[in-house]
Amino acid sequence: MQAFDYVRANSIAEAVMALSDPSTRCLAGGTNLVDLMKGDVEAPRRLVDITRLPLADVALAPDGGLRIGALVRNSDLANHRAVRERYPLLSRALLAGASPQLRNMATVGGNLMQRTRCYYFTDVAFGACNKRRPGSGCAAREGYNRIHAILGASPQCVATHPSDMCVALAALDGAVELRSAKGVRTVSLASFHRLPGTTPNRDTNVASDELITAVLLPPPRFGARVDYLKIRDRTSYAFALVSVAAGIAITDGRVTDARVVLGGVAHKPWRAEAAERTLVGSPLSADAIRAAADAAVAGAEPLRDNAFKVELARRAVARALRNAGAVA
Ligand code: SF4
Repeated sequence: MQAFDYVRANSIAEAVMALSDPSTRCLAGGTNLVDLMKGDVEAPRRLVDITRLPLADVALAPDGGLRIGALVRNSDLANHRAVRERYPLLSRALLAGASPQLRNMATVGGNLMQRTRCYYFTDVAFGACNKRRPGSGCAAREGYNRIHAILGASPQCVATHPSDMCVALAALDGAVELRSAKGVRTVSLASFHRLPGTTPNRDTNVASDELITAVLLPPPRFGARVDYLKIRDRTSYAFALVSVAAGIAITDGRVTDARVVLGGVAHKPWRAEAAERTLVGSPLSADAIRAAADAAVAGAEPLRDNAFKVELARRAVARALRNAGAVA
């Protein structure tokens, strides 16, 4: 681990001021960043400890939505009564992630910013990784790429986004509140994470001087007609090979609204808008589900070792939609 300076922010203003130095990173739960620092994958010159900032509340918003502070722990959010009752999709996704010990430490803001688990990124013994060392190449392209992307990848990077929470937030039309010296702005979940393109070193559209202060959820749209389905190599403490966040609204026997977002298949939560369009306006029949599942993986470009993910994603979408539709 490289030496670094440590400062503690006693107010949001102090944290924002510290972030005006681009070599400064936020320290909250530390469950991802500290691991990466120990492995010399990340080497910030300064950490600003934000754990004492007043950002750990979950509050009902005036519009009927929810305001979730950036420092709310994953366990607390998953078990919060308003989340369990009104946003069960989010609760289930959170509980599908990591381990109880990690969920007790990890924060909402840190979960948004967590980095890929591509083996070649997390092990500096591999020299070629455009995400870690821009311009060095991509070891995964020709290497062992069983866990990598099948959608939205680029010649420069085929990594996947690791979060479960973010897949649910994207399906719930969440947004992220960011504060800097220039003011406050809000970015939708859909625009928060980036596809790799030619700059895979940038995971998100957060500027280095911005502090994540909250996640904002609109009023729930799907009630209990939701499902979070996570397929992984073992039943706990593993990242998704494929996950699906599904929500549907049904009125008079027809689907009136739908969200289908996939995890584990792309560099960001992958919203399957074509699948959603397929569903809206028709009954949630077996044929409609099959057509939506096909649409969700249209355009997939598997790598040498992960062609199985295409069929896995197709079946996971179908099952998640069946599960969501089975709720009365
Ligand atoms: Fe690096 Fe991305 Fe290639 Fe993995 S897939 S080695 S993170 S460039």
